[in-house]
Amino acid sequence: MEKLTTVHPLNNIAYEKLRVAIIGQSIFAVEVYKALVADGHTIAGVFTIPDKNGKVDPLAQLAEKDGVPLFKFKAWRQKGVAIPEVVEQYRQTKPDLNILPYCSQFIPMDIIEHPRLHSIIYHPSLLPRHRGASAINWTLLCGDKKAGFSIFWADDGLDTGDILMMRECFVKPDDNVDSLYNRFMFPEGIKAMRESVMLIAQGRAPRIKQPKEGATYDAMFQKKAVAEITSWDKSTLELHNWIRGCDHNPGAWCKINGQMVTFYGSSVWRRARPIKCRKVEIAGMKEPALVHSDGMILFANDGGMINIRSLELETGKMIKASKFGQEEEEEELIFTADEETIVESLKGIWKSILQTDTIEDETDFFKSGAGSMDVTRLVEEVKDKCGGLTLTTEDVYMGTTFQEFVRNCILKSRGGDTSDEVKYDPVNLRVNNMDVCFPHQLFINNEFVDSVSGRAYATINPSDESVICSIAKASKEDVDVAVHCAGEAFSHGEWGKMSARDRARLMYKLADLMEEHKEELATIESIDSGAVYTLALKTHIGMSIDAFRYFAGWCDKIQGQTIPISHARPNRNLSYTVKEPIGVCGIVTPWNYPLMMLAWKMSACLAAGNTVVLKPAQVTPLTALKFAELVVKAGFPPGVINILTGSGAEIGAALTGHPDIRKLGFTGSTEVGQEIMRCCAMSNLKKCSLELGGKSPLIIFADCDLDRAVKQASGAVFFNKGENCIAAGRIFVADSIHDEFVNRMIAEVGKMKIGDPLDRATAHGPQNHKAHFDKLLEYLEIGEKEGATLVYGGKRLDRKGLFLEPAIFTDVTDSMYVAQEESFGPIMVISKFDDMDVADVIHRANRTEFGLASGIFTKDINKAMHIADRLEAGTVFVNTYNKTDVAVPFGGFKQSGFGKDLGEEALHEWLKIKAVTVEYETCDFDY
Ligand code: NAP
Repeated sequence: MEKLTTVHPLNNIAYEKLRVAIIGQSIFAVEVYKALVADGHTIAGVFTIPDKNGKVDPLAQLAEKDGVPLFKFKAWRQKGVAIPEVVEQYRQTKPDLNILPYCSQFIPMDIIEHPRLHSIIYHPSLLPRHRGASAINWTLLCGDKKAGFSIFWADDGLDTGDILMMRECFVKPDDNVDSLYNRFMFPEGIKAMRESVMLIAQGRAPRIKQPKEGATYDAMFQKKAVAEITSWDKSTLELHNWIRGCDHNPGAWCKINGQMVTFYGSSVWRRARPIKCRKVEIAGMKEPALVHSDGMILFANDGGMINIRSLELETGKMIKASKFGQEEEEEELIFTADEETIVESLKGIWKSILQTDTIEDETDFFKSGAGSMDVTRLVEEVKDKCGGLTLTTEDVYMGTTFQEFVRNCILKSRGGDTSDEVKYDPVNLRVNNMDVCFPHQLFINNEFVDSVSGRAYATINPSDESVICSIAKASKEDVDVAVHCAGEAFSHGEWGKMSARDRARLMYKLADLMEEHKEELATIESIDSGAVYTLALKTHIGMSIDAFRYFAGWCDKIQGQTIPISHARPNRNLSYTVKEPIGVCGIVTPWNYPLMMLAWKMSACLAAGNTVVLKPAQVTPLTALKFAELVVKAGFPPGVINILTGSGAEIGAALTGHPDIRKLGFTGSTEVGQEIMRCCAMSNLKKCSLELGGKSPLIIFADCDLDRAVKQASGAVFFNKGENCIAAGRIFVADSIHDEFVNRMIAEVGKMKIGDPLDRATAHGPQNHKAHFDKLLEYLEIGEKEGATLVYGGKRLDRKGLFLEPAIFTDVTDSMYVAQEESFGPIMVISKFDDMDVADVIHRANRTEFGLASGIFTKDINKAMHIADRLEAGTVFVNTYNKTDVAVPFGGFKQSGFGKDLGEEALHEWLKIKAVTVEYETCDFDY
């Protein structure tokens, strides 16, 4: 017969178009078949295995479709002798060459040697190592550094034939049988088979003798019995190699509590030993296995740790190793007929993206070769083919195995998001004509838990001093656990891997949820802190939402610079800066705006990419815990945000001194701020920012709009019951308008309705808590004793609760206690000044150790600007007061602290800047 030849387009070498017999099976053989057809060869016949349980092998399916002669011999030989009819049928196909891409049958030598060009076979090891079946298993079991495959001239089945081609790759630390096959053996093997046939067709195929040294012949490793871990007396690597060498088939296993448990997804655990975990006894292992949020830790005899990602139970059920012992918690989903259709569509989408015909429950989207472009395609295809089901890229990253992905999709299609589920022991109240519900336990790693010590304390409603509920009181051990989880989330979790834009999306979602729950949040804030409901709605909660939205917008705008520097001639240099998150941060907040203080700091901290452990003030923990519930609903990965309720002296101090926290953000008193700074320095020299107390001067000139000045000054002092860090602690009024100002102020304050903070008409609610209330009474007493005149209020109201009449002191001189110390309550302190002596009032306004805020009322803009330039305060208000905005930096001078909240500046508090300098050679390219 005349030979058909053509020229290879890449190397221009002529090759013969061959008649090829394919003896093999599976998708691997299918791909080889397609490649050979693409090169113009003819498939003379396909010899594959009989159908298994009615399932036709993919190679048979393809041959049938193409009308290629197809044979499904059960066996080729009997008692070592080729079966004549089989041989005869084979001969009829008249092949030039046999290709054995993946052949599980014994092929007689009559067949191997029959074609004029003989036979080539694919073997998944670097021969002469690991001859025999289960070669990939053995490559891993033996801890080989390199894996690969050989294409050799087929022999009598002992894998000793001459080599035609070999390809190798490095074994990655966490490779298992599946990953090696999928990333290398399969794709490269198909290419190599095609190349091998081409070399044969061009008459250039080598035959290289296999060396004798290094040869091994390994036993078949398929049966479950051989994969048992019979002894734990192994080194870390031996244990890891054993488990991954059996992964996925036959699966290394041992008995736990009398049940067979098979281990998958082994990796050497180099991270710190998990703190938050459950212990599981395994007979013979050095110490109990640890079930933690990321898997199960097994111990080797050298003290090393192996982490297992998933487990198969004796029942055949696959679970995440992190769920071992709690399998019942993840309710099994029963799919409806419609949902079954969705699952089939999802499988089809995965198959087409991953270009495979087999998608198992444990097939991992990324480990099977998908990249970030595929995530977009997956999201779009699901939307297109599953009735508009809209996933986020996050949903894909959160469930990377097919089983998890299906679960997430079905839950989402049912209207709920998996991330939506948050379980806790709720406090339910009917208050403010609504049902409110909030957690009362510590929030660690997205779970609500009791303190390790089991301690709790009561939080009190200042309106009537009744107990609202009991709150978990964290201890130092809880701090360690929370910091550990935050560290894991930062270094190893999704948070650290996600793009800044995805981070922003989570923050926006959280802000949306806060908005959805704003009435509930404001109600909780009101009963816990005494904040007037309407103010809580607008400011406490409203500005918290604004802060999250504002900083969400910053996430993807955090960028460095390129900086021209002197070149080290003849070379050239380039410097650039990168702004990086700091890592695990601690935040300690006060009680006056409980949620808002949390939001101001935490939003910038998260936008910068950090993870956080926050301690709210002991007396006002509730909105922080309600916020934590929304964090889970928004889909934040575990450990990113942790909230510990408890005492400052204990938990605040433990955070401040913690060696794994590198930044501490604090808002509170100057006294505690000093202690915090000392502790930050002494522990690990952690960075800190301190937003501390104030005694802010407000200067009212005679040329002001007096109506406006009175209204604004009233707000400057009495806003939020005076529990306002920028409250105007001292009012300087020009002597020419002093008396009129005081009279008008008394009238203005008299209009304020004092009472139930939930009443929409109330302007002034109860003070925050008893200790503070008592301090205010003391403050008033000192003022009067020193000779200041109490011209209005200052008495406890004759009713239940911590209600204090707003107070006005006049005749206050600069040396008085009330002129120098912050009250943090509804106490106005008025002093006169000489309208003609601007320099003197500036001097008096600045004569304080505080420097948080200040204000000026005058119609003379030149005077206002002159004074604004000279006031030593972080904020100066002109003809207004309390006008804060999330976009404007906020923070004090002098003993009011340092470091800003809000505005772009706040971001820098939570970032570190790295400078990278590169040197490169100049090249003499001719232009
Ligand atoms: P604080 O007594 O300083 O307490 C603030 C926070 O620090 C609380 O969570 C407290 O825990 C904790 N804490 C106490 N001792 C600690 C320690 N040794 N180590 C670490 N943390 C510790 O202040 P506050 O009475 O809650 O708040 C009032 C003060 O905050 C006022 O001076 C006010 O001006 C200032 N403030 C300033 C700003 C600003 O932006 N500049 C804003 C609001 C408030 P406990 O819960 O156990 O007390």
